[in-house]
Amino acid sequence: MQHIPPLWHDPETHLARRQPDHPILYFSPRVLHQTAARFQTGFPGLVTYAVKANPHPAVLSNLVAAGVGTFDVASPGEMAAVHAASPAAVMHYNNPVRSLAEVQAGIAYKVASWSVDELSELEKLAEVPRDCEIAVRFALPVSGAAYDFGSKFGAAPEQAVELLKRVAAEGWTPSLCFHPGTQCEDPSAWGKYIIEAGRICEAAGVKIARLNVGGGFAANRDGVAPDLEQAFCAISEAVKAGFGTDLPELICEPGRAMVSEAFTLAARIKGIRKGGEMLFLNDGIYGGLVDIRDMGLPGRVYVVAGDGSHRTGDARPRVVFGPTCDSLDRLPDGLPLALDAQAGDYVLFPGLGAYSSAMSTQFNGYGLSDVVTVIELTAETSR
Ligand SMILES: *Cc1c(COP(=O)(O)O)cnc(C)c1O
Repeated sequence: MQHIPPLWHDPETHLARRQPDHPILYFSPRVLHQTAARFQTGFPGLVTYAVKANPHPAVLSNLVAAGVGTFDVASPGEMAAVHAASPAAVMHYNNPVRSLAEVQAGIAYKVASWSVDELSELEKLAEVPRDCEIAVRFALPVSGAAYDFGSKFGAAPEQAVELLKRVAAEGWTPSLCFHPGTQCEDPSAWGKYIIEAGRICEAAGVKIARLNVGGGFAANRDGVAPDLEQAFCAISEAVKAGFGTDLPELICEPGRAMVSEAFTLAARIKGIRKGGEMLFLNDGIYGGLVDIRDMGLPGRVYVVAGDGSHRTGDARPRVVFGPTCDSLDRLPDGLPLALDAQAGDYVLFPGLGAYSSAMSTQFNGYGLSDVVTVIELTAETSR
C-alpha cells in the first residue's frame, strides 16, 4: 500500500514528541497554496515557478495541485524533476548558457520557451522547433535587489535589439525577459526594465508576444511581510507606460517569494560556550542556513525547549556556529536568541523555504535533508 507520511500539527509538537537530533525543514503545503493563490490572483499575467529555489518533489507537486502549470528550469536535472511532478507541465528554459547536450535535452523535454543573451548561444539553438518562443534576456545596471543578477547574464540593450531581430527573422516567437535580482525590495527596478523593454522592441521593429519580468519578488526577511501587490501594481503601470495599448502578455517566475514562507527550519543547539556568547547548532552555512550568510540575519527566530514550549527570556545577540569543523561555518554575528536557551533546545527559523535544502551540502557528514509536513508553522503563531 502507498505510504502516506503523517501530518503533524506544528513544528513544536513534532520536536517535543521526536526530539530529532538532525536539522529539519517543516513544510506547510497550505501556506504554499496560499502564496500560489496570491500570485495567481494578483499578478497580471502567467505565474510560473523558478525550480532552483526549492526543487523538492512535494513543492513541485503541490504547486501543480495549486494550478501552477509552467516551470522555469535551468538544467536537465530540473527538467527531470518537473517532468516527474507533472508530465503535462510546461517548461521555460531560462539559463542562457547551454552545452549542446543540454540543448538536446531541452528539445527532448519539449521546452516551450528558451532565453538567450548572446549570438553564440542563439546559434546553438538552430535545431529548436520554430513553434517555440525565444526570449532575449537583457540586463541593466539597476539597483533595488539584495544582489544583482545582471552581472552574470543579460545582453546590453543595443545587443538585445539585434538578437530580437534575429529571433523574429528566424521564425521563432520573439519575446523579452530579464531578472531584476533576488530579494528585490524596490518595485521601481521592474519599472526601469519594463520601460527599456518597450524601447528595445521599438528599436528592433519587432512586436513581442510576451515579456517575462523574472523573479526577485521579496520574501519576509525582517519580520514584515512584503507588499507583493505593490510590485504587481508597479509592473502593470510600467507595462502600460512602456508599451501603450499594444501590451505583451506578462510572465513572472518567482522562486524565493513563492516558497520561502511555506517552510520553517529547526536546528538543535549542540553546545553553549563563553557564558552564552557562543552557540553551536547542528546546521549552518554548509547546510540549510547558507542563505543567511548571503542575505544577512533574519528578523524572526525562536528558541523551543525540548517540551515544545517557546523560551521567553529576553533575547541577546550571539555568535552562532554551524556543526562542521570549518571555522568559516558561522552566521553573520549577532543572532538574537533568548537568554534562557539551553543545549538540546531547538532554534526555529521561519521563512527558510528558498535556497535552503536546495543548496545544502553533506560537508563533514552534516546537512539538511529531512522534511516534515505540518498544518501550521511557527511564523503564524504568536507563542
Ligand atoms: C533564480 C531565478 C529566478 C527566481 O529568482 P528569485 O529571486 O528566487 O525569485 C527566476 N528566474 C530566473 C531566470 C532565475 O535564474
